[in-house]
Amino acid sequence: MLPWIHPHLAQSVNPNKGRQLQAAQPIQRGEVLLIDPPYAIIPISDVDAATSSGNIICNNPQCNTTVPQEKGTHCPKRCNKDVIWCNKDCRDTDKARHNFECTWLAKYTASLRSKWGYYNFGMLWLIVRALARRCTESSQSHDTATADYNDQESQQSHLSLSRFKSGWAAIDALCGTTETWSHAQVREWTVLVKKYLSSSALPHNLPNTDVLALICKEEANSFGLYPRETGVFPPPDPTANRGEQFGAAVYPRASIANHSCCPNIIHKPDEQGRMVFTAGRDIAAGEECCISYFDLTQYVGLQERRGRLQSLFRFKCGCARCVEEEAEQEATGEDGNEVGWDAFPDFG
Ligand SMILES: [Zn+2]
Ligand SMILES: [Zn+2]
Ligand SMILES: [Zn+2]
Repeated sequence: MLPWIHPHLAQSVNPNKGRQLQAAQPIQRGEVLLIDPPYAIIPISDVDAATSSGNIICNNPQCNTTVPQEKGTHCPKRCNKDVIWCNKDCRDTDKARHNFECTWLAKYTASLRSKWGYYNFGMLWLIVRALARRCTESSQSHDTATADYNDQESQQSHLSLSRFKSGWAAIDALCGTTETWSHAQVREWTVLVKKYLSSSALPHNLPNTDVLALICKEEANSFGLYPRETGVFPPPDPTANRGEQFGAAVYPRASIANHSCCPNIIHKPDEQGRMVFTAGRDIAAGEECCISYFDLTQYVGLQERRGRLQSLFRFKCGCARCVEEEAEQEATGEDGNEVGWDAFPDFG
């Protein structure tokens, strides 16, 4: 699965926000800006079992299509019920990668979920998969090296790709450190790493501090996967939410996008779990390209949006919409719901 990047999409550094995506030249509404295969991806099946569709992402990272749970090929060791492949071919292709996690899943799935909850289990599983990818990366060819760049379009695409980091180097460059998160949160993750992710639990040869650093990055950058689009702005009328989450993933390039409550990019995973960015409106040269980190139909008011961003990502949004709505509220004195910024609860 090859990534694809629009020739006009560039990355730059904003002194306040860090790395960002930017239009180097104009981009038209509807144009695809980025197709990014995940570095690591996990299926999520039963956040709410009553409404679950019963479809699971095939665990073979070269495939990632959804399979009806009852039709898939399971792991012979039944390490985790969400470990399912389309067929035996997908299972065989994925053997080396799955071997990395199989014993860990069999040993910890039940206890982790009961003691630490579904969210923390999923987070750790995603980390395990990122570590597995890192371990197998050196033995694999570079994800663009084997492609055939004969025609002009693919040469152009290769040029665009070379402007972005890939593989572990891209993950290592993501934002997020122990300073990003509260002390209480970092303490909890430190306990989780020691108990479940140390090099005695998994063959990754990294010190615990490096695994903790990976969690700090993953939590600031991972995507929930939903069947419908995120970030249509203004929201469609009648509003439609983005549907039930079926996966979570870390993307090496899509993660560079910053948040806006009036984003110019719509994002949605394709059938292979790749993150696809599409221009939601015309984007001028020099403009930053932003996505929405949450469902805009679910968090509508300024205070709701701020609460969401602070609890999940720990920053205060300064997008054009927030600035405008804040000014309106100040002008009309409608600040009855305003609470101190530090009053929002920490994540976890
Ligand atoms: Zn498959
Ligand atoms: Zn297994
Ligand atoms: Zn905003």
